[in-house]
Order: sequence, then structure tokens, then C-alpha cells
Amino acid sequence: MHFELDTTRCDGFGFCADAAPTLIRLDDDGQVVLLKLELTEADRTQAESAVRACPVAALRLCAAQP
Ligand code: SF4
Repeated sequence: MHFELDTTRCDGFGFCADAAPTLIRLDDDGQVVLLKLELTEADRTQAESAVRACPVAALRLCAAQP
């Protein structure tokens, strides 16, 4: 699975990075940086927390490509 980020919705407040600091950070310009291209089951709890934390639904989890 992996994150998909809708950059047109993202407001850069960084709630996602607070919820999942090992998976997401904000750069010096306030842009979201996804730290892992592919997420494992071990990442799921943090990843789902990050998705829930986003107030504008800019972030979602997608299944890995078959
Ligand atoms: S919480 Fe949502 S809007 Fe805020 S930085 Fe993260 S993805 Fe962007």
C-alpha cells in the first residue's frame, strides 16, 4: 500500500506528519514529504492515523499495485 496525496487540497498544516512522524514530514517550505514509497503492514496504524488527521481529506491510503 502507499499514500496518495492530493496537493491541490493540502494546506500544509502538517497534522499528518504529527500523526505519522516516521512516514511523513514537512519540508522547510511546508510541503509534505512522503518518506516511504511503499508502506508495510507495520506502517498501517500510523498511516491510518495520518489519513484520519487530515482535515481536508488530502491524504489517502491505496492498495499496492498487483
Ligand atoms: S494534514 Fe492534510 S492538509 Fe495538512 S499537511 Fe497533511 S496532507 Fe496536507
